[in-house]
Amino acid sequence: MVLFSLNDDHRQIQDLIRRVAREKVAPRANEIDRSGEYPQDMFDLLKGLGIFSLPFPKEYGGTGSILSACVAAEELSRVCYNTCYVMIAQWGPFGAILHGGNEEQKKKYLMGLSTGDLRASISVTEPQSGSDVAGIKSRAKKAPGGFRLNGSKIWCTNAQVADFFVVAAKLGDDDTRRAINLFILEKGMKGFTVGKKEDKLGARGLPSCPLYFDDVFVPESNRLGEEGQGFKAVMEGFNGFRPVIGARAVGLAQGAIDHAVEFVKNRYTWGTRVSDYQGIRWMLADMAMQTEAARLMVYRAASMVDAGVTGEELAAFAGMAKAYATDVAMKVTTDAVQLFGATGISNDAPINRYMRDAKVTQIIEGTNQIQRNIIGNFMLGRPQKKT
Ligand SMILES: Cc1cc2nc3c(=O)[nH]c(=O)nc-3n(C[C@H](O)[C@H](O)[C@H](O)COP(=O)(O)OP(=O)(O)OC[C@H]3O[C@@H](n4cnc5c(N)ncnc54)[C@H](O)[C@@H]3O)c2cc1C
Repeated sequence: MVLFSLNDDHRQIQDLIRRVAREKVAPRANEIDRSGEYPQDMFDLLKGLGIFSLPFPKEYGGTGSILSACVAAEELSRVCYNTCYVMIAQWGPFGAILHGGNEEQKKKYLMGLSTGDLRASISVTEPQSGSDVAGIKSRAKKAPGGFRLNGSKIWCTNAQVADFFVVAAKLGDDDTRRAINLFILEKGMKGFTVGKKEDKLGARGLPSCPLYFDDVFVPESNRLGEEGQGFKAVMEGFNGFRPVIGARAVGLAQGAIDHAVEFVKNRYTWGTRVSDYQGIRWMLADMAMQTEAARLMVYRAASMVDAGVTGEELAAFAGMAKAYATDVAMKVTTDAVQLFGATGISNDAPINRYMRDAKVTQIIEGTNQIQRNIIGNFMLGRPQKKT
């Protein structure tokens, strides 16, 4: 069993980000959510801190530790989910490039993401297929010197600011998941356009947009990984990165508790502080217990990644951490809104944005139903029909 503890390096990262989050990020959080505008100032702040490199291997300037990335994500998400997302967007295609890329691609793209000189998106989802990745229809055909890509995508986050896009498409005529390959598209390629951004419930500060491919020429050097290895690279990338999504959710739950505690300590009914009612204390105690359990699961799954665990075992434990932490975030943030009374419904108060952002975490990076399928398959094998 992989155990974990936060070492001095993790604690230093935690202290630094906690301080910056409180002083510089928190004052911007509500405005980013309300306006729905991409927070370029937050990108510049994080770039200046040099924290985009955190999960990258040491040769690309990072710590090589997903646990470090989780600690940082938790602290940022605790005050501003959108600023946390700005950081995590730098890590979106990281797993796929690390697992599928050649040395030249890793050097160019991982280095650029790590320093913040490049921004990127990863785009798999299509109108007819989200969870069912194998159902994508975007298609690449071989052409002299490369490929011609046709099709479309939806929900591509970071699209309006990305310099490059890791895109999943089927190659040739095969329609199975074995045909899925990954291609790196660069901004401005002929025939490649980014559509209008979604108006979203949560995660409002980062643009999620459709992409359109009209016979886009992609040079051979821009295919990621060997032919037919795309699906594997995406899945391995997602598994290794899932604890970070859980960490975002832990941060949301903790941030909602911080706000709720402050509120009930200063609110009176019938001449009694709301925080002095036992019913309220038990609610907050449950919220704290669930958040702490989620935190431990996330840190442990991250430590499994750092210890080199892969395959179905990692998929199951990372899935448990992601699904549990994001379900906890949904429950805890909803309870926090309840504790605020009517103030919780006002868009002038900070609390309902935590609840809206928590909803997003149950859906992205593999919905929580899909995580439960992965866990069930690990426990029981894949479902079978009697023959
Ligand atoms: C804010 C946001 C940002 C996103 N960013 C990106 C991005 O950058 N790149 C990208 O590629 N995608 C992105 N997505 C898309 C996201 O990955 C998909 O929305 C997600 O995979 C679910 O797919 P879907 O919405 O098509 O739902 P569907 O797959 O259609 O599922 C609908 C419902 O059915 C459930 N369901 C489906 N199949 C099963 C099953 N076998 N068993 C049980 N339940 C099932 C699902 O859990 C869900 O509740 C983003 C989404 C959001 C909301």
